[in-house]
Amino acid sequence: MNNNNYNNIKSLESLSQEDLTGKKVLVRVDFNVPIKDGIVGDTTRLKASLQTINFLVQNNAKVILMSHLGRPKGEKNLKYTLEPVAKSLGELINQEVIFASDCVGDIAINTVNSLNNGQVCLLENLRFYAEEEANNSNFAQALGNLCDIYINDAFGAAHRAHASTAGITQCIENKYMGFLIARELKELGSLLQSPERPFVSIVGGSKVSSKIDILRSLIEKSDVILIGGGMSYTFIKAQGGKIGKSLCEDDKLDLARELLELADKQGTAILLPVDHLAVEEFGSDETPQVVTAGEIPDNLEGLDVGPKSIEFFDKQLALAKTVLWNGPVGVFEIDKFSKGTKAIADKLVEIQKTGAHTVIGGGDSAAAVAKFGYVDQDFGHISTGGGASLEFLSGVTLPGIQALEN
Ligand code: AMP
Repeated sequence: MNNNNYNNIKSLESLSQEDLTGKKVLVRVDFNVPIKDGIVGDTTRLKASLQTINFLVQNNAKVILMSHLGRPKGEKNLKYTLEPVAKSLGELINQEVIFASDCVGDIAINTVNSLNNGQVCLLENLRFYAEEEANNSNFAQALGNLCDIYINDAFGAAHRAHASTAGITQCIENKYMGFLIARELKELGSLLQSPERPFVSIVGGSKVSSKIDILRSLIEKSDVILIGGGMSYTFIKAQGGKIGKSLCEDDKLDLARELLELADKQGTAILLPVDHLAVEEFGSDETPQVVTAGEIPDNLEGLDVGPKSIEFFDKQLALAKTVLWNGPVGVFEIDKFSKGTKAIADKLVEIQKTGAHTVIGGGDSAAAVAKFGYVDQDFGHISTGGGASLEFLSGVTLPGIQALEN
């Protein structure tokens, strides 16, 4: 574990209008958004970048945006073009976003050279080149040649050392973090450094194996950890409970016992669901039945927490001053198994209003609160990075941010 505080990074705030006027400013953003039939389905990530973009526009910079989208595997594939994003972003900033159909070479250079002060362009998908994910130095140099100043504001891509996040920082001296990364570091960093107590973490999702490091980190930092979702059954089985056909990682039973012991030593309470909603066949139209935790019959599969668990979790959350939530506690994508996850979202919104600080750790939990109709302002913070926030909270150094250090 590395507790990097990223102290030695210049912030965009330190740049004045004089520093920025007429300068070519290349911003790595995370515009990896869902697109269907040429329309952007969710603009959350675009909106999260607006503070940085608007600041640069208002200070007369020539703004060059670059991002990845999906997994085109190093080849030009127009299924993954960023062109619809340029249109959608243009509507959000009330000005045209010029689209360059390549991110390097003559097309990119000519587009950048044609920009007037305060104009914005978006380069085509970085991942149309295999060199991006390979962190190729020539490719990084080609990107770096486009600008006078480089800014990384792609928190969602900060856990990857790619040419546009890491390699490029070797090619350009003027490098800064944008407002979004600064906000994420402040919000997520304060959870690890100085959370107001009691600090309650909720960890859910499908598997223990993908959450081992964050669990270790949170056992150290939290007062209480509520565990739900598919991963709870591995813990329940590890304690001798019956879990029927529920999701379980049998090779992680020892690990679950080790984590429970670690929590015990640390004085952190790990609390598991006390009941579940279960069905015989996932995907059938059965009405789920409520079953006691640890007593799930062989023919049933648990797919959500039950009503007593909701009540029990609510009581813990009512006492919390700080809450971090990472991972749904049931198969929230299906309405009849979304009650537990919805109840947590509702409770967090309620306690946020009465003075607690609630943080949603991105990924599926962020998708869940959006599905329930909640917005950013309903919580203290919703992280824009799934994998990146998981790694940050696990104490891992994020290469895309470390590369900005001077
Ligand atoms: P993760 O990517 O590990 O955070 O897991 C998120 C996924 O876990 C979501 O798609 C949920 O549908 C799924 N999930 C939550 N609870 C359960 C459960 N009891 N059984 C199976 N999958 C679950």
